[in-house]
Amino acid sequence: MNDHLRASIRDIPDFPQPGVVFKDITPLLGDAQAFAGAVAAIADHFADRGITKVAGIEARGFIFAAPIALRLGAGFVPIRKPGKLPHDTEAQDYELEYGTDLLEVHKDAFGPGDVALIIDDVLATGGTAAAATRLLGRLGAEVAGIGVLVELGFLNGRSKLPDIDFVALVHYDEP
Ligand code: AMP
Repeated sequence: MNDHLRASIRDIPDFPQPGVVFKDITPLLGDAQAFAGAVAAIADHFADRGITKVAGIEARGFIFAAPIALRLGAGFVPIRKPGKLPHDTEAQDYELEYGTDLLEVHKDAFGPGDVALIIDDVLATGGTAAAATRLLGRLGAEVAGIGVLVELGFLNGRSKLPDIDFVALVHYDEP
């Protein structure tokens, strides 16, 4: 399955800016077997962890987080870019190559006893996933793991993550 997943991810050089090789997952999403296989593989990895909430990172994280939540019998929580969520939010900033960015989540998204799984499409430098982990931790959620479709291992993003269960289905050792 992982070879099938790799084969359905397309490299787009110099997108969205020169020097970046963008991992385009739209062919994978359009392939019913690959999409279902990716969702199942991540969900099954965390099946016995008592996950109650699956938090997806806007925007491509949502695509995987929602079906993973359904498969785990858990709720779905959106982690969004600033200004998108309508109710009271908690925010966490994080470093970009130039400047900083912000992630937000509803303050009431997690309650006592909630066990969270964070989902995104790609782990690159790890800044986004690390910020999401801090954000949920500040709301009192126990973060049991992080799941992504793709890990860009040459950027060493995993070193930014706390020592929690991490799964990536497709690894790239070079750009
Ligand atoms: P980072 O915070 O550097 O780990 O970046 C992760 C976020 O940026 C994810 O939400 C990805 O969707 C996106 N991203 C970063 N690099 C790439 C890439 N080469 N191809 C596709 N998406 C990327």
